[in-house]
Amino acid sequence: MDQKPAFGCLKYSEQHAPGVGLTLDISEILASEQSAYQRITFYRNPYLGVFFTLDGYIQLTEGDEFAYHDMIVHPAMAVNPQIKNVLVIGGGDGGTVRELCRYPTIEKIIMVEIDERVVRLSQKFLPSTACVIDNDSRLTNIYEDGLTYIKNSASAQLDLIIVDSTDPIGSGEGLFSREFYHNCHRALNKNGILINQHESAFYPWDGYEMKRANDKIKSVFPIAKVYGFNMPSYASGYWYFGFAAKNLDPVSDIKAEQWQNFGLETKYYNIELHKAAFALPSYVKKLLSE
Ligand code: SAM
Repeated sequence: MDQKPAFGCLKYSEQHAPGVGLTLDISEILASEQSAYQRITFYRNPYLGVFFTLDGYIQLTEGDEFAYHDMIVHPAMAVNPQIKNVLVIGGGDGGTVRELCRYPTIEKIIMVEIDERVVRLSQKFLPSTACVIDNDSRLTNIYEDGLTYIKNSASAQLDLIIVDSTDPIGSGEGLFSREFYHNCHRALNKNGILINQHESAFYPWDGYEMKRANDKIKSVFPIAKVYGFNMPSYASGYWYFGFAAKNLDPVSDIKAEQWQNFGLETKYYNIELHKAAFALPSYVKKLLSE
């Protein structure tokens, strides 16, 4: 952090609001290609390491992905440590399945990613997140639209669905629809949990999408909460996931001791933070209740 950016070097810029953006120095462009679904570009930054964008939006940086992937996986595992059968939709960089594979008790993980190129490029340039793909016998990779996959899936079989998707535009749009949430509800068993990308609340356009997603989930699941975490490379630096369930409450049903018995070392997540993450700022509570 104490390095001053080299004046005049190549920069990556992403606009988050009028007059507000994130700029990263680029020390190397590792790959850039147009897949059947999106433009995929991998860069290196001298401080945050490798980062990649899809259609010009940052998906992850090596420097802060630990926060995102800890928070998309461990809260659900602490609420139901018996989770055995998991579906991940999206998540082509592999960070989510990497965290899931740390639980010896999980028996089966299916990852349905629409774009195989994201996976292959991540294996090449982001081995720190993609390390379990093709390397863990419990994990099956399917290259298909998650919307189609869930529509055709069996009822009441899954313990956990994680939607690690892009924003609600392009191929990710359907993953924020009521029909999709209905199919997730059907595919989950009675203790099933759905974790999904929930955008951010600070900028009005992100807040609009967050509320839209939350309203739809609330109309489908009896328990539908939102939790936040610090994410330096995303707009506003703070991001949210949704926790939806048929029976389990994310705070009162936490099995702290059982989770701690897994003995996992986590850089962001811990049991105290779990409870705090579900306590929302007043403006977010207001946005979601209006
Ligand atoms: N951490 C990221 C974020 O929130 O910015 C998300 C990362 S992950 C790379 C998102 C993945 O979702 C992408 O690889 C994209 O190809 C995949 N995706 C988008 N729409 C999809 C769909 N309908 N079915 C399955 N995967 C999808």
